[in-house]
Amino acid sequence: MAEHKVVVIGAGIAGLVSALQLAHQGLSVTVVDKGDQVGGKMRQLKVGGAAVDSGPTVFTMRWVFDQIMASVGTRLDSELTVQRLEVLARHFWEDGSQLDLYADPERSVDAVARFAGPAQAKRFVEFCKTTRAVYDALEGPFIRSPSPTMAQMMSSLGPRGLATLASAGPMRTLWESLGKHFTDPRLRQLFARYATYCGSSPWQAPATLMLIAQVEMDGVWAVQGGMHALAQCLMRLAQARGVQFMLKQTCERIELTQGRVSGVRLQSGDSLRADSVVFNGDIAALRQGLLGPSVKGAVTTKKQSRSLSAVTWSMYTPTTGLALDRHNVFFRSDYKQEFEAVFEQGRLPAQPTVYVCAQDRGTGEPVHGPERILCLVNAPANGDKRGLTPQELADCTASSQELMARCGLSLQLEPSSSCIRTTPQDFHQLFPATGGALYGQATHGWMAAFARSNAKAQVPGLYLAGGSVHPGPGVPMAAMSGQLAAAALMDNLGLTKSSPAAATSGGTLTH
Ligand SMILES: Cc1cc2nc3c(=O)[nH]c(=O)nc-3n(C[C@H](O)[C@H](O)[C@H](O)COP(=O)(O)OP(=O)(O)OC[C@H]3O[C@@H](n4cnc5c(N)ncnc54)[C@H](O)[C@@H]3O)c2cc1C
Repeated sequence: MAEHKVVVIGAGIAGLVSALQLAHQGLSVTVVDKGDQVGGKMRQLKVGGAAVDSGPTVFTMRWVFDQIMASVGTRLDSELTVQRLEVLARHFWEDGSQLDLYADPERSVDAVARFAGPAQAKRFVEFCKTTRAVYDALEGPFIRSPSPTMAQMMSSLGPRGLATLASAGPMRTLWESLGKHFTDPRLRQLFARYATYCGSSPWQAPATLMLIAQVEMDGVWAVQGGMHALAQCLMRLAQARGVQFMLKQTCERIELTQGRVSGVRLQSGDSLRADSVVFNGDIAALRQGLLGPSVKGAVTTKKQSRSLSAVTWSMYTPTTGLALDRHNVFFRSDYKQEFEAVFEQGRLPAQPTVYVCAQDRGTGEPVHGPERILCLVNAPANGDKRGLTPQELADCTASSQELMARCGLSLQLEPSSSCIRTTPQDFHQLFPATGGALYGQATHGWMAAFARSNAKAQVPGLYLAGGSVHPGPGVPMAAMSGQLAAAALMDNLGLTKSSPAAATSGGTLTH
């Protein structure tokens, strides 16, 4: 068989995983990305001389990366230093209360008891049983399935899985369901926030998204060198297997010959021949025709509303007044107004929840002087439309600072030589056709999870990978979509390895 050429458009986590696995199996792979670094959203910004993680910060589902590394004949621990965090996240409320959740479940139960009393701690234990059961029921039939449908999922769940799902109340919203678990409004709020991990509102997301809480309770890890080091590691492994990287190159067209993918054209005017293309951008770009008219109809799933965007501040600054941990959340008493502002009014919330990642903390190393900080508030994905007004930004900035100050933390959010702000408009420039949405389509309504496209586009030779396709957003999920795209491509070439054991053995296919 002649050498099969693959072009991967996008060096996000999914594109990197696809490229690595395809090259490991003997295919000739070129990765093209418009950015000047690999990783896509998993980017790093140089601020005041420090490299600050300015995309994803919470590293969960380590097993996904253990499997990816095994599939290419190595181990995560051989390639990166990854440390399990004792504190999953530290939560502050404006009334002065504070709650840490821990990797050790018993410590979390004790902390909840001290925070909200033994009755709530008991409810927390019951909640954990439910999230465990929901996660276990859905991991195989939904998360790992290449192309789940509601009917298929129901049949593979079996009576026990169906009963679990029914107990979670899948037709309820996450917010409603949490109201049945917790009577303390702060605990309801804390666990509702997990809907935002896939860019959604707890008032519209299905109750099944409580499984995200389980994902975090199963462990959060810190990657030495930051999350961006994971992207660089995948690039290095891919290069060692012959993958060519072309950065600062925008792909403006996917070319077809007789209805099948035959190459890509770059904005520079250059063309690359390809027998297959993996597209790792947001599928909205295909729909909008940004990759040319011939692939505009390559995705036929129903269009859903956009997920959350964000305003972020990447900083290198001293922090004073409060003992931060690595992952910190500052809550207000009225949570609903934030999601009404973003999803109903298309505005930046005047009273946002504030997330602060202090990336130098949590691993036992002492912090002196300036430290690397990413501060994030949720925002509407309107970076291609009206955008945020200067007043909205000013109000949101002031109230975020005020909230942190009320909880004891002094942090200045004004852009300066030690603070870079990124808005939905900026994210829209970085991630075309998204309006700045960072998690693909919102998971609103109980069928939304089934509305994502699978890895096979409706054009022969075109595959899809990334947070906008199944199984969805977040670093591990997008990485899984990269694996699914690579597997679908190999399958179509008739090169799928025969046994599941072989799939993780690291052997190279020759053809
Ligand atoms: C601020 C922030 C915080 C987040 N927090 C977390 C978190 O804590 N934990 C977590 O798990 N997830 C988090 N996420 C989500 C997570 O980062 C994403 O779901 C995941 O990284 C998306 O990966 P992807 O494979 O879809 O590719 P993306 O990261 O979306 O990358 C796509 C790449 O394609 C390139 N591209 C697109 N179109 C073209 C074109 N035409 N030509 C050339 N190149 C193109 C882009 O330049 C980009 O590099 C966060 C995201 C952000 C931005």
